[in-house]
Amino acid sequence: MKSFDFLVLGSGVAGLTFALKVAPRGRVAIVTKKDRAESNTNYAQGGIAAVTSQEDSFELHVRDTLQAGAGLCKESVVRTIIQEGPARIAELMELGMHFSEREVARANGARELDLGKEGGHSKRRILHAQDVTGREVERSLLAAVAQQSNIHIFENHFAIDLVTSQKLGAADGNRCLGVYVLDKATGDVETFAAPVTLLATGGCGKVYLYTTNPDIATGDGVAMAYRAGAAVANMEFIQFHPTCLYHPKAKSFLISEAVRGEGGVLKTINGVAFMDRHHPLKSLAPRDIVARAIDSEMKKSGADYVLLDITHKPAQFVIERFPNIYQTCLRYGIDITKEPIPVVPAAHYQCGGVLTDVDGRTDIGGLYAVGEVACTGLHGANRLASNSLLEALVCAHRAAQQAVSRPTGAEALPIPPWHSGQADNPDEMVVVSHNWDEIRRAMWDYVGIVRTNKRLQRAHKRIANLQEEIQQYYWDFIVTPDLLELRNIATVAELIVTSALLRPESRGLNYNLDYPESNAEWAQKDTVRRKPE
Ligand SMILES: Cc1cc2nc3c(=O)[nH]c(=O)nc-3n(C[C@H](O)[C@H](O)[C@H](O)COP(=O)(O)OP(=O)(O)OC[C@H]3O[C@@H](n4cnc5c(N)ncnc54)[C@H](O)[C@@H]3O)c2cc1C
Repeated sequence: MKSFDFLVLGSGVAGLTFALKVAPRGRVAIVTKKDRAESNTNYAQGGIAAVTSQEDSFELHVRDTLQAGAGLCKESVVRTIIQEGPARIAELMELGMHFSEREVARANGARELDLGKEGGHSKRRILHAQDVTGREVERSLLAAVAQQSNIHIFENHFAIDLVTSQKLGAADGNRCLGVYVLDKATGDVETFAAPVTLLATGGCGKVYLYTTNPDIATGDGVAMAYRAGAAVANMEFIQFHPTCLYHPKAKSFLISEAVRGEGGVLKTINGVAFMDRHHPLKSLAPRDIVARAIDSEMKKSGADYVLLDITHKPAQFVIERFPNIYQTCLRYGIDITKEPIPVVPAAHYQCGGVLTDVDGRTDIGGLYAVGEVACTGLHGANRLASNSLLEALVCAHRAAQQAVSRPTGAEALPIPPWHSGQADNPDEMVVVSHNWDEIRRAMWDYVGIVRTNKRLQRAHKRIANLQEEIQQYYWDFIVTPDLLELRNIATVAELIVTSALLRPESRGLNYNLDYPESNAEWAQKDTVRRKPE
């Protein structure tokens, strides 16, 4: 057994920020299932929303966030996160994060932050590092972590399940004692014990066939927390990014919202701009509206994609502002300065998650959740663009303050070693990949951008059947990362479907043709799922 003072599951912005903040107070283990940089964070393009300019105000950022959240945000949480944002951004810059700057007009070469604009924001407030903001965040945090001798990173270590006092039969409430971890290199399952565990495992885009997320995003944290007895909220609110590159060889490449922020226009394949028929903000309408409009235009025309056109902007500007998007599209034979980009919507962000307060506390003692895995109430029914990196920075700081100032004081309980099935039949592994595909396709076809009760029920039945089969496998076979992820995406798929079935209205990202309007009674109601005892 490995014992630490703090256990951090995940090495994206949430996990790394928390680890840095608690490291002066004890030994920290960061468990991460691939290379340390591999995370949703690493692929964030647009930037971080924060109030840093004279023309902006906390009040405006709050208003924009509440508006996007469609009545479901927790206003006090929204205010706290937005007000504390600038201080966290300043700390990130002290660690060595470089945001893009521009020259101030007529000011003798003085420079200022180059603030971007994205859908739903009434002001320019997105701090960015060209179009590779997440890579720069990850780089600066990892460099700082490397300086800390108290932080130990376990790469290629897969967290399987949380160990809780309730599972061990203790009667004094439910506490998290640690986690069982698969060492992918040896195949051994080890026990990591700590009085404080942070879930920072990110989102669940891979539950859907088409997603902007990298392979790590299989909802492991939500599934683990649910199995351990934590409340999981608002999982029906999955944000589909309207503009993922449509190309047979491109896997999950996002065309940032900032392209529309800088003037990019959505057009049908015949070159007709269509967003003015859907929303006064046209191509910069909130994401759910843009994604639904694209879905509807594609269904109307039968086309597999629509176009995003930024060719009217000077080529030099496009290349300098979007170097990564420009180069990547060019590799696929598309020169975005000369021709429009073919795009489709794809699953992008999980607004719900493990229910926490603004300090990352879950309802299991000693267990915190921060970042995309958590549901704090900031996003409500729809996330405002670039608010997620902000949330992760602010809540990781707050969770760290809680974790160091409130020791659990509880005695460590002896944790039994992991017991695994023994069967190992490679012929049968085809079942795992088949079930993966089946879940992801069912979610895409029946639980996507536009839902109906009938489709949801159909998905529910299929997923329940698959879960039965997966359970059988799980107990009989030696655990592998693929099997563990399959079990997790099945659990998360079930949570998304059942949460959508619980909400008898359309609100934000949950659009159900059987209830096309929102219902005032549900305005401030979360859909909370807890594993039956
Ligand atoms: C293409 C793209 C663009 C985006 N652009 C923006 C943007 O411009 N602005 C913005 O605010 N947000 C953006 N987002 C969203 C944002 O990047 C994420 O919400 C945020 O980075 C999540 O951070 P996190 O630390 O919670 O999780 P992640 O960064 O996803 O990190 C999760 C970590 O957990 C690890 N992990 C997962 N499961 C396990 C397990 N079982 N065992 C061990 N380790 C595990 C992963 O390997 C990873 O290290 C974007 C997302 C994507 C995919």
